[in-house]
Amino acid sequence: MSDLPRPDMTPEEFRIHGHRVIDWIADYMANPERYPVLSRIQPGDLRAALPAHAPEHPESFESMFADFEKLVVPGITHWNHPGFMAYFAITGSGPGILGELLSGALNINAMLWRTGPAATELEEVVMGWLREMLGLPSEFFGVVMDTASISTLCAVAEARENLGLGIREKGTGAARLRLYTSEHAHSSVEKAAIILGLGQESVRMIPSDAEFRMIPAELARAVAEDKAAGWLPFMVVATIGTTSTTSVDPVAAIADIAAANKLWLHVDAAYAGPAASLPEMRPKFAGWERADSIVTNPHKWMLTPFDFSAFYTRHPAKLRAAFSLVPEYLRTAEDASARNYMDYGVQLGRRFRALKLWFVLRYFGQEGIRQILRKHIALAQMFASWVDADPNFERLAPVPFSVVCFRAKPQGMPEAELEKFNSSLLDAVNADGRAFISHTKLKGVYTLRVAIGHLRTEESHIRAVWELLQAQTNALSKP
Ligand SMILES: *Cc1c(COP(=O)(O)O)cnc(C)c1O
Repeated sequence: MSDLPRPDMTPEEFRIHGHRVIDWIADYMANPERYPVLSRIQPGDLRAALPAHAPEHPESFESMFADFEKLVVPGITHWNHPGFMAYFAITGSGPGILGELLSGALNINAMLWRTGPAATELEEVVMGWLREMLGLPSEFFGVVMDTASISTLCAVAEARENLGLGIREKGTGAARLRLYTSEHAHSSVEKAAIILGLGQESVRMIPSDAEFRMIPAELARAVAEDKAAGWLPFMVVATIGTTSTTSVDPVAAIADIAAANKLWLHVDAAYAGPAASLPEMRPKFAGWERADSIVTNPHKWMLTPFDFSAFYTRHPAKLRAAFSLVPEYLRTAEDASARNYMDYGVQLGRRFRALKLWFVLRYFGQEGIRQILRKHIALAQMFASWVDADPNFERLAPVPFSVVCFRAKPQGMPEAELEKFNSSLLDAVNADGRAFISHTKLKGVYTLRVAIGHLRTEESHIRAVWELLQAQTNALSKP
């Protein structure tokens, strides 16, 4: 018997509470639409409802769970709601949730092969499966990261190491490194430059064309100009599926410029990458197989609960050279014969993330996943066709994947009033509770975004959002 005042749950207690939690999740997944998509609490509401101090004495699981339902759930914005169409409509799935649960139970830290042999080898296998699904050559070595921001940070660190200037040992010194990306690239590229001490000035944004794609001739011009001015160009980050419009940079042309100038080519396909598993979408990925490194997030568009970012590098030895630093206590007899993933990134401790993607890939199968992605793309095309056919709406970007950028443009309304109108429209739609959409700005124009990527989103849901947009447009344009 334990002499602790409160030992862990007994197996019997765990079983009872565990079943209750699983039942709750099953009901939740069956009908997330019982909740408004966007939480309706105000800032500070939950804080005010909770005690200021941790409890001195043990509490019952029943009272904890009751507070979860009463206090926490109302403060949830429901990413699982099929009307969630903001940002990227991330979806989890049953097998993914169960994989997460088991990973939490095992509590493995997969820093060394020895500390998690199965986690290490499952990571190798799953990342190999995913690489093959995406049509990438076998030279690409995969590492599971938490987010695309960290994957891109690792890519920039690798590219910097690749210069062979000893920056890892001595710092950048007088070298003025320059990295190129499009003006539509994700902010994580600039953040990586900040974190690695290269400075924001090391990032040069290349202009994009009318369809928000990096202009290769502008990239070539910028590199030549910088070289002449004493900068050291070392990297270019191309995006397949930019965050605002999901535009696709011309990666093949960018790869040519990278090769001619010995630049590291990193491809950010955080959201769109999974679409490479569709043969009909492959042309949009032309040239990415020539990249030095690639990131894509199964947690964005491959049914895997947050977080799971897949980072691929063609040069694992360089990734290791950028990060490996092994103190004595972490040396093991298997160092020569097995992979220690702690050597391939920032973190020492690593979660057992491979399990959930392994479950997802096996449960749905490649064919099942392809059909789900195809459905999302078809729904987005359908939504875009409604926008195009309505004289009171205007589409503002092409729809290469499953995101539609548009705005309301009531006939006769002057341009100067459209931003305020669309911002009010966004608020009105989101206040309804059935849908959550977000916005961006494209070339200065206030733009609404509908992102489709949820396992449970059906035509009825996008029709509901569309009818809501039309009804609120009518209501708001009445004088
Ligand atoms: C979402 C996104 C990111 C950042 O993803 P995190 O995993 O949240 O860091 C990076 N790049 C692109 C293109 C994205 O869409």
